[in-house]
Amino acid sequence: MKHSAAICVFCAAAPATTWDHVPPKSIFTKPRPNLITVPACKPCNEGASNLDEKFKVFLGIKIWPHDSSSYEFWSNGALRSIRANKRIHREILSGPTVLVRDESGRFIESIMVKWDASSHDKTIEKITRGLYFHEFKKILNSNTKIDTYFFNALDNEMKNHIMFLRSKNIGGDDRFVYAFLRDDGNPEISFWFYQFYQGHWAGAFTGPEGFEWDGSKSVLDAISDALRLPKQPSDENSA
Ligand SMILES: [Zn+2]
Repeated sequence: MKHSAAICVFCAAAPATTWDHVPPKSIFTKPRPNLITVPACKPCNEGASNLDEKFKVFLGIKIWPHDSSSYEFWSNGALRSIRANKRIHREILSGPTVLVRDESGRFIESIMVKWDASSHDKTIEKITRGLYFHEFKKILNSNTKIDTYFFNALDNEMKNHIMFLRSKNIGGDDRFVYAFLRDDGNPEISFWFYQFYQGHWAGAFTGPEGFEWDGSKSVLDAISDALRLPKQPSDENSA
């Protein structure tokens, strides 16, 4: 069932006149799973199409074909966009350099692409605003602080933290999985974790305007503290 909102869930300001897909439809090739849609204004919906396209190309290069669904996404999704979109092609060749790692963490030989991190982060922020509305039927304020993260690989420590979160697998085939947790005492504080094609991982914290995460902590400690997760037992405690 669709839950409508009078205003756009992305800008939290303009009247919602369209439905937008979360995550962007462009990260799936056909057949697409049933996608989540959320109310959006026309500018937020249509204005993101170039960002969505860049994210798709980034994802194709980052995940690299390592199984049948990532191969399908690369050959019939990302690679087609690179060939069809001269602007994206040019941008990939002119931005800062990103080295691509394979799933075991090794740098893939001779694959070096240039990437604009801010476009990645904007897409992650948009996914976070959309899913927050989808899950909680509340719109995050336009001034809610959203910090985004990018993980090169999923290590065991991260996996142990994610076990405590509620997770959902869109379409059930591991093309897009998200997990989340919200602070019941302060619902503006939440953590979101995203896995794309088992080859790219990103996360986002939301919090009130001006709220500062303790920068001396690791992302994982900040998740535990902000959301009051049970601490992982350390070797000292169990000895
Ligand atoms: Zn909007």
